[in-house]
Amino acid sequence: MSTLDNCIFCKIARGLLPSRKVYEDDEIFAFDDIHPLAPVHFLIIPKMHIASMAHVGPEHGALLGRMLLLAPQLALAQGCRPYPEGGFRILTNTGAEGGQEVAHLHVHVMGGPRPWLKG
Ligand code: AMP
Ligand code: ZN
Repeated sequence: MSTLDNCIFCKIARGLLPSRKVYEDDEIFAFDDIHPLAPVHFLIIPKMHIASMAHVGPEHGALLGRMLLLAPQLALAQGCRPYPEGGFRILTNTGAEGGQEVAHLHVHVMGGPRPWLKG
């Protein structure tokens, strides 16, 4: 598994920094966002260091698919109400102009009753 010593999400995935874990398997880790913008707000990350969606290739297809497939399942488990009354938002910021602050690929999953702090 590739890791970056100075990457906070690599450290979280390896348990070297604390987080509130939502899910973990061999390849994927999910944890609550430290500054939630919605009642439910967690991040799904690959355990391997991938800097952003601008860095993915065909070799990452299965991993990305698994991350996306986890989102609805984990959203419900974390308290989002079912579709269509409930639902959730999936978001991946990419690059400076895309609003990315942490350079380790992550999928935001947000949901829960309105209003939210943002969006
Ligand atoms: P982005 O702007 O898409 O790169 O989002 C980075 C997200 O990571 C922000 O929503 C932060 O609140 C969140 N974040 C940063 N550090 C931590 C941390 N140590 N634990 C949990 N979430 C974090
Ligand atoms: Zn990393």
